[in-house]
Amino acid sequence: MGLERMTELIRPGDHNEKVKDVQSRLRSLGHDIVDAAGYFGGTTKRAVRAFQQQREILIDGIVGPNTWNELVEASWRLGDRTLYLRHPYLRGDDVNTLQARLNALGFDSGREDGIFGPETDVAVRAFQKEYATAEDGIFGPASHAALAGLRVDRPGTSAKLREELKKDLGPRLEQAVVVIDPGHGGTDPGEVGTRGNREADLCWELSTRLAEQLSIEGARVRFTHTEAEAPDSSERARRANELQGDILVSIHLNSHEEWTAEGASTYFFGGSHAGQTLAEKILDELVMLGARDCRSHARSYTLLRETRMPAVLVEPAFISNPDEEKKLEDSDHLNVLASSIVAAIRRYHEESL
Ligand SMILES: [Zn+2]
Repeated sequence: MGLERMTELIRPGDHNEKVKDVQSRLRSLGHDIVDAAGYFGGTTKRAVRAFQQQREILIDGIVGPNTWNELVEASWRLGDRTLYLRHPYLRGDDVNTLQARLNALGFDSGREDGIFGPETDVAVRAFQKEYATAEDGIFGPASHAALAGLRVDRPGTSAKLREELKKDLGPRLEQAVVVIDPGHGGTDPGEVGTRGNREADLCWELSTRLAEQLSIEGARVRFTHTEAEAPDSSERARRANELQGDILVSIHLNSHEEWTAEGASTYFFGGSHAGQTLAEKILDELVMLGARDCRSHARSYTLLRETRMPAVLVEPAFISNPDEEKKLEDSDHLNVLASSIVAAIRRYHEESL
């Protein structure tokens, strides 16, 4: 990211200009910080962790290159800078806004993923042809002014419609490619329960059982990584796209500082109707097993945003709750969890025929 590239870590106890920059970015995203300007104290750390949790990246309360990139992406507002197709692609929440507006106007800018790729370039040029003076693919002040002057109120974006079409024509479960993404892995343990279980290990266990049962149903199952690897979210999404998955299921466990927190939740990308349908079906099954209903939520996690198929992140339980953690040690319980997720996937495929 040019000047914004960073290699050093910004951590608790630091006192410098970089910390000040991090604090102002976090504040503008709505996080409360009462530490002195430029001092990485307790409230800065809490804000960093909350931000990392929102973006579903490693939660360590330290600002390394990955967290920094996410902070930079999250900080852009449409109009802040000139957007155009270049390598590496420009990324940010401003690109996301642009895509959403163009889609709503009927210019197909592809999935609303915050990445200015070739599809967005084509959509910007088409938009410029109709509404702006220059048709150069450069979304600068003139194009921004032209877009700002238009009412954008058409429901149902072309990207959404295309995904729904894909869902309607989607294969039966027997022929579907199901990509499983076990959370964390390799050197990244995820959260660790009070009984000593690592989130990565439990997710891996559940994922392999899920794979086994899906295979029995006739699905073609693929993984985003091996047990020894922990690719970042973009890489996981890239692999899932390359595998041409029909759906993606990512397995994580929830965690909260309050140990009594319990229950199941699922997450889908906000613009994805099919993703939401699948997320709700999986949650229904988990709740029928007796889990507390912690709802389905729209999230713009990198993995959900950058995958080109309906994608759901599942958190069947809290690893921070000792009772739920203990249950996850039981192999029979893991099999039951896996079969309830399979049942939801089967229902999803049956209904989309
Ligand atoms: Zn996790």
